[in-house]
Formats: sequence, structure tokens, C-alpha cells
Amino acid sequence: MSEWIELRVLESKARDANRPVVRIDPEVMERTGIAVGDVIEIVGRRRTAAKVWNGLPEDRGKGVIRMNSILRKNADVSLNETVKVRRVEPKPAAFVKLAPVSMTIAVDANFLQYIKQRLREYVVVEGDMLQIYVLSQPLTFQVVQTKPSNAILIITEDTQIQIFEKPVSGVKIPHVTWEDIGDLEDAKQKIRELVELPLRHPELFKHLGIEPPKGILLIGPPGTGKTLLAKAVANEANAYFVAINGPEIMSKYYGESEARLREIFEEAKKNAPAIIFIDEIDAIAPKREEVTGEVEKRVVAQLLTLMDGLQERGQVVVIGATNRPDAVDPALRRPGRFDREIWINPPDFKGRYEILQIHTRNMPLAPDVDLRKLAEITHGFSGADLAALAREAAMSALRRAIQSGLIDLNQPSIPPEVFEQIKVTMADFTSALRE
Ligand code: ADP
Repeated sequence: MSEWIELRVLESKARDANRPVVRIDPEVMERTGIAVGDVIEIVGRRRTAAKVWNGLPEDRGKGVIRMNSILRKNADVSLNETVKVRRVEPKPAAFVKLAPVSMTIAVDANFLQYIKQRLREYVVVEGDMLQIYVLSQPLTFQVVQTKPSNAILIITEDTQIQIFEKPVSGVKIPHVTWEDIGDLEDAKQKIRELVELPLRHPELFKHLGIEPPKGILLIGPPGTGKTLLAKAVANEANAYFVAINGPEIMSKYYGESEARLREIFEEAKKNAPAIIFIDEIDAIAPKREEVTGEVEKRVVAQLLTLMDGLQERGQVVVIGATNRPDAVDPALRRPGRFDREIWINPPDFKGRYEILQIHTRNMPLAPDVDLRKLAEITHGFSGADLAALAREAAMSALRRAIQSGLIDLNQPSIPPEVFEQIKVTMADFTSALRE
């Protein structure tokens, strides 16, 4: 075992988002003798472990460690916090018991074998979450029991694996994380500063004598990642997340809209720190001059009252999203309400390339797939359009596999060797583009 060292946590690069590996400042690696392939123990508020891969040249001298969101959950740390790490010798696991986190799965011998094979890439610690991809489908497991227990383990030929079919309860499932969002660097940074920082460290704001914002407006066209940003910031700040949709609340709860709003604010306060996300806020709060109905007027007034009633540093932040900032009631944009705005632009070439990388990162891509080319020819596509393109291309590959008889739909399960043969090709993308 080596000495403990302290490192600052940064998010992993997109390509590592689904790999159980960390990357450390190369200078620290040279100094401490931690080498590629080593296993390190990582201690944040929780203890976990991971394998070390080559450090990034850009991290040299910065004293940082790159961890993806699952590893950060396992260590219970956020970005920019510090962890202590040291090199350890992992022990061979005699026995490992896993349970799926959110869904019920069918476990047969093939599946067990497949998972065992994949687990060889992982370091296993009791209580950790593991995400394993089966043809681009993420399966999240919790390690519920190991032998020896409480140790840092690796899987060997002799390890016995058991997988529950029913999900474990009471675990928080990681949803959207920063790595799931391409492009939007400025927006990410702003929202973290305005929302995550005050939610996590209210004392800092108190100390500096500044008021963190109660309301933020995300402004931009549909499908550009506004909802993703709100979810990611909630997830990363460990905040409760409740979403409402402007038009829906105005129609579905007609006559009950104000009560519904009050309920949502109550729910958020009870579960604080919390984020309330109001999509298409222009629908819930149209300009007063344009309002004809009494109901709309009352809903706007109710929202104002609720926002004014939020305690300063009350640990509830309201994020509104709109594509029509001018249609939002000016009263909602006064100080103490939605007084900060973040503009979200449609992605340019670089942005589209990043978003395509994210949406294809779990796909088995054929070597002929040229994401740069695809980014070039998708001018005008939003993030949502690019996500749909990737999905369609994968469906096209799947249809080919079924038509060619590679996948036999009459079989109860698909053997792992078959998965390995399915690849998404450039032709799948171009045919998806034509649709
Ligand atoms: P908005 O709230 O702006 O209408 P969403 O955040 O709901 O858009 O995006 C819809 C979907 O489009 C997302 O679930 C995601 O799959 C994809 N998407 C949009 N923007 C991005 C982005 N910047 N990076 C990655 N995926 C994106």
C-alpha cells in the first residue's frame, strides 16, 4: 500500500463515462509510482476503489483525478471536492452477490456468464453501484454482498456470482449527469455556480453576504438540453427534483392550477434542498396584457406569491425554461424572482460532434462510422434531433440483425456472442437521416 494522497475531483471525459476507471494527474503518478492498471482505494464521504488508466496530459501538475458519475456516487463526492487515494492490492473475490437497481431482469446461465466476464474489468466493493452495458442498454447493479466482505476485490475465474432478479429498494439512482450533456460549456458552468454552489454550500453565501438566486430562466429553442441541465444540476447537488410543465398545468389541472402549484412548492420545501423545474413557463405566466381569463391571472399571482415566500437561502431553487422570453410576465423577472438568465444556443459543428459522441458512446459502432462527417451534415439539428438520429441508426442495425437471422426472436435469450456481432454502420446513420 502506498501513502495517501489528496486529489481534486474532475468529471471524466465522455469516453470514460461508462468505464470503471479513473485518470490521475500524470505528475502525481510519476511521483507516487501509481501506474496504469493499478487499483486505488478512493475515500470521499464513502470508500470505493477503481482501476487507474493513463493520465491526461492536460491534467499534468493540477493534482486532479477524473471520475465518472458512478464512481463519484460510490465515493459520495461532487466535482471539485477532494478525495484521498492510495494504491492497494485487490483480493480475489470468492463470492459476489448483485441486485439490479431499478428493473427486474431475467437471469439465466448465459446472462450470468456474460456479466461475470464483463465484471473482470471492474473493482468490486460491497455497497458500490456498477453499471454494465449490454448492447448500449445500461444495467445498474448494486453489490449487495461480497466474500471476503468489506474488501477491495477483483473477479477471477473462481469467483462465484449470484444475481438477484428483483431490484433492491432504497437506493438513489443516478440520472442525468454532466457527462450526458454535450456542448453548452458556458451554460453548465453558470448553472453550477448559480444553483449547485448555493445548494451545497449555503454557508459560503452567508459568509460573503450575497443572496443566491431563487429563480433562473433557461432560454433557448426546444430540444437543446434545458431539461437535461436542470436534471443534471439536481442530481449533482443531491437535490430533490420536481418538474411541472406550463401548458399541462394550465389544461389538465384547469381550476386546480393554483392548488397544484402550492402542492409542488410544499413538496419541494419538505424535501429541500430541491429544484422546481417549470418547462414552458411562458404558458403558465403569459404577459398580463395578453391575459384574458381570470384563471391565468390567478396562476401568475400564485406563482409570484410562492416565489416571494421562498426563504432566502431556503434551499429551494426554481428553474424556468422558455423559448419565448418576451412572453414571460415581466413581474416574474424582477429581482428576487427569475432574475438570472442563461441562454442556450443550438449546437454548432463542435457541439453536434460532442452530442453525437455522447449518444453513440454505448453503441457498438462499425469502423466506417464518421461522427465528424455526421456532425457536418446535420446543420440545424438540435440535441434532441441528434439523439433521435442515433436511436434510429441503432434500430436500423437491429432490424438488419433480425432480418439476417442473426437474432432469433423465438429464442428466450440472446447469447452474448451474438451481441458482439451486431454493429451500427455509417449506412445505418444515413438511412436514419433519410427518414
Ligand atoms: P429542452 O428541455 O431544451 O427542450 P431536453 O433537455 O429535454 O430539451 O432534451 C431532449 C433530449 O435531447 C435529451 O433527453 C437528450 O437526449 C437530447 N439532448 C438535447 N440537448 C442535448 C445536449 N446538449 N447534449 C446531449 N443530449 C442532448
